[in-house]
Amino acid sequence: KPVVAIVGRPNVGKSTLFNRLAGNRIAIVEDRPGVTRDRIYASSEWLTHQFHIIDTGGIEVGSEDEILFRIREQAELAIAEANAIIFVADGKEGVTPADQEVAQILFRSRKPVALAVNKVDNPDQINNIYSFYELGLGEPFAISAEHGTGIGDLLDQVMADIPEDFEETEYDEDVIRVALIGRPNVGKSSLVNAILGTDRVLVSPEAGTTRDAIDTPFSTEDQDYVLIDTAGMRKRGKVYETTEKYSVLRALRAIERCDVAVLVIDGEQGIIEQDKKIAGYALEAGRAMMIVVNKWDIVEKDDKTAHKFEQEVRKQFPFMAWAPILFVSAKTKQRVHRILEIVKQNAENHALRIQTAVLNSVIEDAVAMTPPPTDKGRRLRVLYTTQVAVKPPAFAIFVNDPELMHFSYERYLENKLRSAFGFEGTPMRMFIRQKSSK
Ligand code: GDP
Repeated sequence: KPVVAIVGRPNVGKSTLFNRLAGNRIAIVEDRPGVTRDRIYASSEWLTHQFHIIDTGGIEVGSEDEILFRIREQAELAIAEANAIIFVADGKEGVTPADQEVAQILFRSRKPVALAVNKVDNPDQINNIYSFYELGLGEPFAISAEHGTGIGDLLDQVMADIPEDFEETEYDEDVIRVALIGRPNVGKSSLVNAILGTDRVLVSPEAGTTRDAIDTPFSTEDQDYVLIDTAGMRKRGKVYETTEKYSVLRALRAIERCDVAVLVIDGEQGIIEQDKKIAGYALEAGRAMMIVVNKWDIVEKDDKTAHKFEQEVRKQFPFMAWAPILFVSAKTKQRVHRILEIVKQNAENHALRIQTAVLNSVIEDAVAMTPPPTDKGRRLRVLYTTQVAVKPPAFAIFVNDPELMHFSYERYLENKLRSAFGFEGTPMRMFIRQKSSK
């Protein structure tokens, strides 16, 4: 899906516009403890067009210089990430020098830009928009993000501007799509280079030569892979990965397109809030996952250090106890070759399909071993189970009454499936359904 970015000075109404376009269809909503809600990225649609929308906004206070710096940064982010840009200005304030500067940057990028003049709340303010022609971005659209007026015309323009040949690269089903995710400076780029640099890895000579190539396809003897969104990493051209918000945004984009997410943690610095946030996104998206603790060469260790670190990881990421952990050094290449082995295993488990008969015999055994809970004298009866999806594996468990299911019993059944079939490295989904009475 194409990406539309919203750019503009503080207080012009970017977030209001974002929320209006996103409606209730926020792609990633976080209600998990320890994960804050970040409304910067959402799915949206207009008529028959579906698109992603990103809010590049950020700082809302600061000196003129600082604002100018940030908004330049935003513009660069939008140019790099988006297929079309909505530039929002303030119709009440008129054209400002910062608007002019950003308009120039956007204009030079040759990305399609639609100019939205916001806060035109009633028809007699329409004259406010004419001065905005001087920005050289074409016809200004008078909108009121708050009241929702003018937005249809604006979106018509944005959609018309997205290049016809826009297409996200599709990969064959049997290609494993891997993304290295993590906050800045944990060593993602170094690991990408270390992985691609080993002699059992074959990177196609064309990789990275086309303008839009952001992924790196490569192969080992027995498997094809593609590293998602690695162009910047390989060239070390990380212009805008400076703030947390932007790095989270990049991670979101990569998570969306991958099968297996490799969460990279800095072994020297340990786990911080942002690591958990990024892991939460990958989990929400249902991706297979492994945790790589990097920079292990510079960690002072004794024979218990790895074990302690592992316990800390398990404590900090209690919701992904199934994710394998690997301690590596991109610098010395210690254990780097193991990453792809684990990724491959994770990907297989992520796509695993279990035969219904086998599935049901495992569940029946589990139920016989530990009988289901009762509630007010009524006992849960587990009738049958089917696998309804892969990537991640999802199971529908049909019962006499879903209200009688307890979280702990559901967890018990999940763990039985995990130990029977080895779903290491992948999340699982369990749906408890009422068996329709005949
Ligand atoms: P990214 O922002 O996650 O892509 O991180 P980089 O790959 O740019 O690495 C950030 C810094 O950490 C650079 O100075 C690297 O040289 C350094 N670095 C990366 N991996 C290792 C490692 O395994 N050991 C050590 N000692 N330094 C590392």
